[in-house]
Amino acid sequence: MNGKSAPGKMPTGTTGDTPQVLLAHHLKQLKLPTVLREYDKVARECARDGVDHPRYLLRLVELELIDRERRMVERRIKAARFPAVKSFDTFDFTAIPGLNKMLVLELARCEFVLRRENVIALGNSGTGKTHVALALGLAACQKGFTVTFTTAASLVHQLMEARDERRLLKLQRDLQAVKLLIVDELGYIPLSPTGAELLFEVFSQRYERGSTIVTSNLPFEDWTSVLGSERLTGALLDRLTHHVHILTMNGDSYRLKQSSGRRRSSNPEQAAEPIRATSETVDPETGEISAS
Ligand code: ADP
Ligand code: MG
Repeated sequence: MNGKSAPGKMPTGTTGDTPQVLLAHHLKQLKLPTVLREYDKVARECARDGVDHPRYLLRLVELELIDRERRMVERRIKAARFPAVKSFDTFDFTAIPGLNKMLVLELARCEFVLRRENVIALGNSGTGKTHVALALGLAACQKGFTVTFTTAASLVHQLMEARDERRLLKLQRDLQAVKLLIVDELGYIPLSPTGAELLFEVFSQRYERGSTIVTSNLPFEDWTSVLGSERLTGALLDRLTHHVHILTMNGDSYRLKQSSGRRRSSNPEQAAEPIRATSETVDPETGEISAS
């Protein structure tokens, strides 16, 4: 059992080790890494506690299942390409009283993904739209759905590049297959007519086939300024908003509040000064604040 052969018998590494070596090999081939890692330890625990063989096997298989689920969630999170992993645990709902907390928590159960419904988060910069989109994406990964996170600008860039390289169809199919597509930041950058059309096609192809989350700093009436054409905007909104939950996230910028708070506490001389939000601009991309 311990792998050491008695003198005169087969040398170490052949017969003496065979069961363990073969077992390790087979478990690897069967892709049961947790069983391989745990079987010896669990065997000793079961022997100590007088647990019978079926229950020993059950414990091992359950450990493998739990681990496998965890690995699959990790894989889905990696595949989603989130710029950061954020959850509702770190989201302060009191900071944005206008947001319907009940609706957000209901969405976090991800039944909307099963129903292939969409979510649109609208509001000015720094109000937590991306945070909410990331948290919903994370919840979807944990519930077993495939997720892709991208920004509108990056998605359009990818689509144009794929078109130029004659692999647009493949990318469109991939984008259609994912259960939840998150398109962040529609509105900061106006799109070219081709870009707008390609984006429209993505939404159109996903219509009633998969869920899409869109975040935007612009109210619907201003989407034409990004998409260029009124007709295209109408058709896109028609599809996107047919089965939709709208999160209205207007309020003070969380970034601005946080950094004002930080500066006040780090500079006691300024502590009594009012925060002059009007004299500062927030870069929508980086969240950096510059005085003007
Ligand atoms: P938006 O996408 O609306 O511009 P973000 O989601 O990027 O805003 O939020 C800016 C920063 O502030 C992020 O680091 C985010 O995690 C944080 N944040 C925003 N709102 C909240 C909130 N209500 N609770 C906790 N963190 C928040
Ligand atoms: Mg954002």
